[in-house]
Amino acid sequence: MFIFESNHNTTNTSEDKTNTNKRVADTMRTTANAVAAGKQWTYLPVMDNEDFRRHAHELVDWMADYMNSVREFPVLSQVHPGDIKKQLPEAPPAKSESFDKIAHDFNEIIMPGMTHWQSPRFHGYFPANSSPPSVLAEMLMATLGAQCMIWQTSPAAAELEEVVMNWLGQMIGIPDGWHGVIQDTASTATLTSLLTARELKSKFQISNKGFTGNEGFTIYGSTETHSSIDKAVRIAGLGTDCLRKVAVTNEYAIDPAALAAAIEQDLKNNFKPLAVVATLGTTGSTAIDPIKEIGEICRRHGIWFHVDAAFAGSALLLEDMRWMIEGIEQVDTFVFNPHKWLFTNFDCSAYYVKDKEALVRTFEILPEYLKTREPSPVNNYRDWGVPLGRRFRALKLWFVIRSYGVDGLKSLVKKHIDLAHEFASWIESSDDFELLAPVPVALVCFRYHPGDIDDPVELDKYNERILHEVNRTGDIFITHTKLSGIYSLRFVCANLRVEHSDVETAWRLISETARSIR
Ligand code: PLP
Repeated sequence: MFIFESNHNTTNTSEDKTNTNKRVADTMRTTANAVAAGKQWTYLPVMDNEDFRRHAHELVDWMADYMNSVREFPVLSQVHPGDIKKQLPEAPPAKSESFDKIAHDFNEIIMPGMTHWQSPRFHGYFPANSSPPSVLAEMLMATLGAQCMIWQTSPAAAELEEVVMNWLGQMIGIPDGWHGVIQDTASTATLTSLLTARELKSKFQISNKGFTGNEGFTIYGSTETHSSIDKAVRIAGLGTDCLRKVAVTNEYAIDPAALAAAIEQDLKNNFKPLAVVATLGTTGSTAIDPIKEIGEICRRHGIWFHVDAAFAGSALLLEDMRWMIEGIEQVDTFVFNPHKWLFTNFDCSAYYVKDKEALVRTFEILPEYLKTREPSPVNNYRDWGVPLGRRFRALKLWFVIRSYGVDGLKSLVKKHIDLAHEFASWIESSDDFELLAPVPVALVCFRYHPGDIDDPVELDKYNERILHEVNRTGDIFITHTKLSGIYSLRFVCANLRVEHSDVETAWRLISETARSIR
């Protein structure tokens, strides 16, 4: 491998040459002469193929050791703000540095500043699961370095994406005839969905003429929908004032009666209800919005229906969790993240649409340089979303699904749900802890609540302190949310490597910390 070191002015094209062909020919001749004379560039060998092979083997050993010992690292990085930055030079190196030095600094400077998302004791947020087959695919993707924007730029990438998305659709109960495409994140998928809804409803006028005459659309979610919905509404130009956050039931799922009432009210006030976004597995407590009832309301009013199942979608692998998508035939678009709970490292978001034509019509754009001629229809995925350039993400899904098999993936997801339920049962049977929400999948929301404290402010303070104390140990990592204004601890149990003993360790640490704080 070589780097260009320095050059002096590479072009001698004069402004007065107006003939394009002549200018190009002159430039090419000048460059060729200079290279032949050895003047123009200096090539410095940086990493030849043998060096690459050696370092790659070293790194793979490092990766395997890391995966094996990730449980031993403090889960939450223990550094303070600025600790990493102050060890790094302000300016980039002018000269090549040895790979050994770079690897040394990676270990000494970067690693202490990492939070270990792959630790089986990472119980915060939702997981961003990786897995060995997924990492291997990612290595191949980086080596091939293919930019898979259209079929021609790597037919295997386009066709594998189509096949793998069909497999995944079958695995989670997406209806026949729908089409899947991989997006980078659920946020992008939701934006894609709302843009499609906006275009369909305005008869594709907004993308041509702007909003003139098409103002007043309203969007509906619940008070528990993810902030990516707010962002999508903002970016799509619909305006966050037009996002209605409908009340939830005492289980934190959207209240269909409140949704219907909000829509009626908007119609009376001459708004144009455009889309409802339901969530399967809200970020706060994994509440499951009732798809069937919402779908009925959408059908009645001709409203677009998007489902955000970013985390909980993976639970649909299990037939006994399919109740969550009862009524999916009324849904227009659906997203879930294999990069959360399907052991496919970030980023990989699976987006399904009922009406492929509407999607492609919203995003299709064909500059001359991208025109190709194929003997039969192909999928050019650049037309299925916002970015033109696309990574070969289907490869890692393919590696993961084949390596684990559908049965293997099901048993992992089932194990996580069972472990979460067991953790919840310990909370339920304890005298001084309480559950704050149902546990439909693999997240437990709870708090410390001893019998002699009832002041809500004091309870919030206690629980906030418990969170910080347990995270400070580095032994586990949990996060929090607020449910009905109450400070709630969140314990997610969905890491690839989590074992029963990790869940026991977490419960022991949390309960002992809570009692010792008293
Ligand atoms: N929707 C829900 C319910 C989420 O919990 C999250 C993130 O945790 C998102 C959307 C956003 O996911 P992404 O990071 O893939 O955009």
